[in-house]
Amino acid sequence: MNISQHWRLNDQRYQLVGEQCPHCSTRIFPPRDACPECARPAQDLFTFAGTGAVYSFTRVLDAPEGFEDQTPYYLALVQLDEGPLVTAQLTDLDGEPGIGDRVEMVTRKLRTDGPQGIIVYGYKFRPMLRPD
Ligand SMILES: [Zn+2]
Repeated sequence: MNISQHWRLNDQRYQLVGEQCPHCSTRIFPPRDACPECARPAQDLFTFAGTGAVYSFTRVLDAPEGFEDQTPYYLALVQLDEGPLVTAQLTDLDGEPGIGDRVEMVTRKLRTDGPQGIIVYGYKFRPMLRPD
């Protein structure tokens, strides 16, 4: 991927865009074009608010390639307020996360890609600054 392509794709990376089933209204993330609830086609885009709660988490010491310089970090299953579970790294933590902690999506550097050193940004979740 060249640098201009990379920047054009950024809008999609700054929001959690999934789908909403037009038949049963289930919200779907990540997008898969078929509803997991009723198995009918679901291609209507839906932008999630980016808020949720920690459903479960694990402390990662042995990171996959490209993430080595970030260890140790917490990888969480976040339950979005709209329902779906999303796997994402937790960031800006002040100590250990807890099950049920309120979190919000932020855009952060994920990793550096390839010999050109293109920095890839994506979503992570941090403790909600103003708990609701
Ligand atoms: Zn459905």
